[in-house]
Amino acid sequence: MEHTQKVVTRFAPSPTGNLHSGAYRTAIFSYLYARKHGGTFVLRIEDTDKERSKKEYEENILESLEWLGLEYDVFVRQSDNIARHQAVLEQLIADGHAYVSKEEAKDGSGVIKEIIRFKNPNVDVTFHDEIKGNVTMNTTDLGDFVIAKNIREPLFHLAVVVDDFDAGITHVVRGEDHVSNTPRQILIQRAIGAPTPVYAHLPLVLGLDKQKLSKRKGALAVTEYRDLGYLPEALLNMVAMVGWNPGTEQELFSKEALIDSFDLTKVQKSPAVFNPEKLVWFNREYIKQLSSEQFWQHAMPFVPDAYRSTSMIKKIESIIKDRIEKFSDIVTLFSEGEFDYFFIEPTIDNHMLVWKALKEDPEGLEKTKDYVQHVLNLIEPIDESAWHYEGIKQVVIDYAEQEGKGNVLWPLRVTLSGKEKSPDPFELASILGKEITLRRVQKVIQG
Ligand code: GLU
Repeated sequence: MEHTQKVVTRFAPSPTGNLHSGAYRTAIFSYLYARKHGGTFVLRIEDTDKERSKKEYEENILESLEWLGLEYDVFVRQSDNIARHQAVLEQLIADGHAYVSKEEAKDGSGVIKEIIRFKNPNVDVTFHDEIKGNVTMNTTDLGDFVIAKNIREPLFHLAVVVDDFDAGITHVVRGEDHVSNTPRQILIQRAIGAPTPVYAHLPLVLGLDKQKLSKRKGALAVTEYRDLGYLPEALLNMVAMVGWNPGTEQELFSKEALIDSFDLTKVQKSPAVFNPEKLVWFNREYIKQLSSEQFWQHAMPFVPDAYRSTSMIKKIESIIKDRIEKFSDIVTLFSEGEFDYFFIEPTIDNHMLVWKALKEDPEGLEKTKDYVQHVLNLIEPIDESAWHYEGIKQVVIDYAEQEGKGNVLWPLRVTLSGKEKSPDPFELASILGKEITLRRVQKVIQG
């Protein structure tokens, strides 16, 4: 659809919890649509529910949007507009669109309260939804719905309509759960002379089990992903594809590329699935793209203090990079001793040292030590300048192939790492350096 009017979208979260997946997906889609059309993105904190709204949640929302790179052009707090909501309410009553109704409180106390009801014209309401197409709903069943608790306390629907009107919102991008609110809000728009924006009700976000996501199960808050060491580019990219795809095979999209390709009309109608495994895939892809300097900016805070300023830590960048899904995995890997042998001389178990084909051989250990001795003879003369993966491999590989790779390379690897599982011996030797490698090899021969 061509827009003659400047696009203005908004994200209108209630600060009643940390920013969760359904909500940040809405924020991302609303943001992308505004940017795509050179429009304005409004952030409106809907904090009129005094009991449930908390400052810390508002802060969490702001922090989350900033971390994801969703900058807004206008900031509004709904509670700052209360006088305006009250004025509109009075006008609605004066114009006969709403009335004060004296009703018995529902708690059975017999107390009579004055609430404000909207005078429903009982018509069919049709609105355009970029995702659902034209939607027509009959409003008769809604009756004269409540729009304010009393003359001073307008409720949700009225506040949303007035704030959208005042901010000149052209496109309301929000979750599917709001569809049933739309006819009420359109009736209020008509009564106050506000234009009806274009809607885009986004499909529900479900977990892999096709159940609704909950705090316990499924997606985490943005700030939890941040604290676990996910990259914002990865979360943004992954969530942008929860319910949308560009119709091509391309999966990796920078923010700019998302803005370029995003299209509300390509958003699916059926519920969308949030797959945490997919987030891991994206995160690993974005970690691969980091420069060494960027990698360490993210990784270093998770490295145990004792290892941070060693000369070894930066040498194991690619080893760490290969093994993590998110930066906090570094803590686990270190605590499990996964990288210890780079920093501390390992203790070698002679039984482990012997390749499986030689384990039954009574002279297996002797033979193994002979192989290691031979490797020592081969690598000792290597010049420091040739002490790198290919340089070491080139010197050892023919001998290993001649004697059997397992017989020769297995004990060399165990000698250098002390472990059943570790990177291959050439990589280990090149990272450890000539001096440490020779020392460990000599020790095994003598031990
Ligand atoms: N404040 C509402 C919520 O958090 C959103 C209202 C709207 O988008 O119209 O769900």
